[in-house]
Amino acid sequence: MLLELRDLQVFYGDIHALDGISLSVAEGELVSVIGANGAGKSSLLNCLMGVVPAKGGSVTFAGKDISSMPVHGRARSGIRIVPERARVFPRLSVYENLLTGCFGMRNTIDLAGKLSWLYSLFPVLEERKSQLASTLSGGEQQMLAISRALIADPKLLLVDEVSMGLMPMLVDKVFEVLSMLNRDHGLTILLVEQNALASLGISSRSYVLETGRIVLEGPSGRLLEDPRVREAYLGL
Ligand code: ATP
Repeated sequence: MLLELRDLQVFYGDIHALDGISLSVAEGELVSVIGANGAGKSSLLNCLMGVVPAKGGSVTFAGKDISSMPVHGRARSGIRIVPERARVFPRLSVYENLLTGCFGMRNTIDLAGKLSWLYSLFPVLEERKSQLASTLSGGEQQMLAISRALIADPKLLLVDEVSMGLMPMLVDKVFEVLSMLNRDHGLTILLVEQNALASLGISSRSYVLETGRIVLEGPSGRLLEDPRVREAYLGL
């Protein structure tokens, strides 16, 4: 397993946001965590990234216990996040935003090669490379946030609610890109989503998160057929 969580506990004061989360992601897998508003999806990814501290449990990445590693150490180890609402730097250009993805890296990268690959994935970013990121649409900002994470050659990409606020056509496009990155480039991805249909559609395995606990897990195809998932998350 590339990533293994054991009994993760997260609190905000008295609020018990994650209560004993255990999950794993194998190298090369695309795994999704689906859950409603407030289920704890962002807390899970932020805790994995080291932004939110865990009160208990462990996080193992590439065979190493990283539970007490700070954010920059986790980033250097190859974990990158596409945060909720993209959080691009609005006053920096598209190009400068991409460069921020390389900050703090110790290994050298072929920047020109990486940029041309990213521009081929998202031509709009090349067209707008000199524009301020604030002038991009929501969908373009998500593409920029994904590209900013990819420029650092991550071993594990964490994706937080990438579909939020996007038009259905753009949701399809962004999910297609994630699926392609996994299928054709072997990128390991853990995504958390409210859009159950889209995320079950591209992932091989999924977990269902409800009020801080995993209540169901299994192959995504099986969960798509599960009556509890169909009723609560697919509106069927
Ligand atoms: P959303 O889809 O709304 O982002 P989520 O599934 O990502 O929801 P979280 O944002 O992780 O859920 O929130 C889980 C629980 O923790 C919620 O009850 C939320 O109100 C609470 N929570 C999250 N962040 C904080 C915080 N900084 N301080 C206090 N409570 C918080």
